[in-house]
Amino acid sequence: MRLLVIEDETRIAAAIKRALELHNYAVDTVGDADGGLAAAIDPDYDLIILDRMLPGSMDGAVVCRKVRAADVHTPILMLTARGEVDDKVAGLQAGADDYVVKPFSMKELVVRVQVLLRRPPLSLGTVIKLADLEVNIERFEVKRAGQDIVLSAREFKLLTYLIYNRGQTLSKDKIISHVWDGDALILPNTVEVYIGYLRKKIDKAFPGKVPLIQTVRGFGYRLGSSD
Ligand code: CA
Repeated sequence: MRLLVIEDETRIAAAIKRALELHNYAVDTVGDADGGLAAAIDPDYDLIILDRMLPGSMDGAVVCRKVRAADVHTPILMLTARGEVDDKVAGLQAGADDYVVKPFSMKELVVRVQVLLRRPPLSLGTVIKLADLEVNIERFEVKRAGQDIVLSAREFKLLTYLIYNRGQTLSKDKIISHVWDGDALILPNTVEVYIGYLRKKIDKAFPGKVPLIQTVRGFGYRLGSSD
């Protein structure tokens, strides 16, 4: 998985990068708000660590708000200064998923990252809608055009991953790393098989409706209601 760290204090950024790389995450760092925003809307990142105070034309909370305004729901972990309660509130209101107060231990940071990577993005809410598809991530319920759809646990996990990242093309490798936790025994062919199961239940069962699962030949899959 690939993580983005937006932090201007190079010593802290380097320490975070080192700690996360030890846990097998790929990490890119950016040291200012504008460069950070440009990188953050790249769908390739699985999580963003965002410092509240940054050089550039905006602060971390504004970066966060702009990322969400671009309909990007990548989990964001905000770094805030000690005791600045307003900072935490501003960060969460801007659409961050969690925050860590400086100074923090790398151990704590890694745990927060692991938790966030397993949790649905807060910014999407409990019931996620795409066209006439509705996914209730707390009650494990899926509906299309008001009709209940029964999915296996793995199909549900695959669908939630696709809907969290709707509109983005997701490679089979990326899907394996999220939906099968990177299990080395899972082959790309398994992803095709499960996409086939989902397609049958979500698209083929509704012949009059726009297909939502799109194959992007040579790249992967995308969930969306249009091109
Ligand atoms: Ca800073």
